[in-house]
Amino acid sequence: MDLQTLALHAGYNKDAQGTMAVPIYQTTAYEFRDVEHAANLFALKELGNIYTRLNNPTTEVFEKRFASLEGGEAALATASGMSAIFFALVNAAEAGDNIVCAKQLYGGSLTQTAHTLKRFGIEARFFDVHNMIELESLIDEKTKVIFFESLTNPSIDVADIEAITAIANAHNILTVVDNTVATPILCRPFEWGADITVHSASKYTTGQGLAIGGIVVERKELNEKLKNNPRYLHFNEPDASYHGLIYTDTGLPAFTLRARLALLRDLGAALSPFNAWLFIQGMEHLSLRMREHSRNALILAEFLESHPKVKKVNYPGLKSNTNFDNAQKYFTDGLCSGLLSFEVSTLEEAEKIVNATKLYSLVVNIGDSKSIITHPASTTHQQLSHEELVACGVPEGLIRISVGLESAKDLIADIAQALDA
Ligand code: PLP
Repeated sequence: MDLQTLALHAGYNKDAQGTMAVPIYQTTAYEFRDVEHAANLFALKELGNIYTRLNNPTTEVFEKRFASLEGGEAALATASGMSAIFFALVNAAEAGDNIVCAKQLYGGSLTQTAHTLKRFGIEARFFDVHNMIELESLIDEKTKVIFFESLTNPSIDVADIEAITAIANAHNILTVVDNTVATPILCRPFEWGADITVHSASKYTTGQGLAIGGIVVERKELNEKLKNNPRYLHFNEPDASYHGLIYTDTGLPAFTLRARLALLRDLGAALSPFNAWLFIQGMEHLSLRMREHSRNALILAEFLESHPKVKKVNYPGLKSNTNFDNAQKYFTDGLCSGLLSFEVSTLEEAEKIVNATKLYSLVVNIGDSKSIITHPASTTHQQLSHEELVACGVPEGLIRISVGLESAKDLIADIAQALDA
């Protein structure tokens, strides 16, 4: 089925009431029929509802629908995009291991990998997302994950997904791709050899900036890569915390199963059923919105490129952009989502332009139907040093725009007056 059909129907079988809208199961827990039923659920002899920290019927529709859009096998919803990333990384790596990450990552992902995971004993090594020689040179027997964004935020690069996954597969290492900005509508990393995707559902999934959430998706047949892989012994040996369960022996998608049974159980970053419901509503029109965001962003990028005050525009849909070929290869119909950035000469000039806009909201978010403007160096990337800013492609005069669904004419008029103010 086409993605726009799956986005409306996948993962939901109408209940006895024939309810068209997915019901919100706003509950903490579920009654067991008897002790045997309860024991069977805990022992995975029967699959079913136990406690909303582990699973919930509304959240399950969101998980199944998202997995189906991504072309994956199974998914785990989490309380935020950051927790989705954390779960995906620590499901593969433990103290003493390393992960190899693109330098061009969202600021929170950079701090999580470089600083927080370091305190957990996991070393993050960074490669330029376009430098495959550097990537390969960082891999050793303790490397458990290669982590990168398909469409990077905020540097707006398009990763050569196939080249990266080929290196990962040659070493039998898992790839984790943050597909937030592209969404499954525009990019499907599993078709290019990726193993796991993660998303901040807080962005395009609702499209209206309504809720925080995240999701981890596992590709089909990932068990074959995990089975007897010496890098991932914890998927192949009895888990003492779950009565000796061997995840790859269950016949269930092992990566998601472990993330749910061990990590969600112990770390508790569960998505609220109400937020899952909001994400389900948003997904119904995700395919329409992503086309319109992309169309508006291209028109705005072309305008900015022609403006004398603008030093550089980063939008992969522009023919002048170094990522253009990757965008044509990896993105549906060459559509590049709603994120663009442009550079003016100085930090002061950037601040002046951001302050002068009226239609664009100064907000640290992306993927809203309402256009958003941000100055990364003073907000999302403020905690990074000057060197780290340069390394991840965020110069001080960079302005990022998440192009919304207003008319392109109005968006151009407002940015034009701000540039000329
Ligand atoms: N990944 C990307 C690409 C993001 O842009 C963000 C947030 O901006 C995140 C992950 C983190 O998501 P959340 O804010 O839902 O935790």
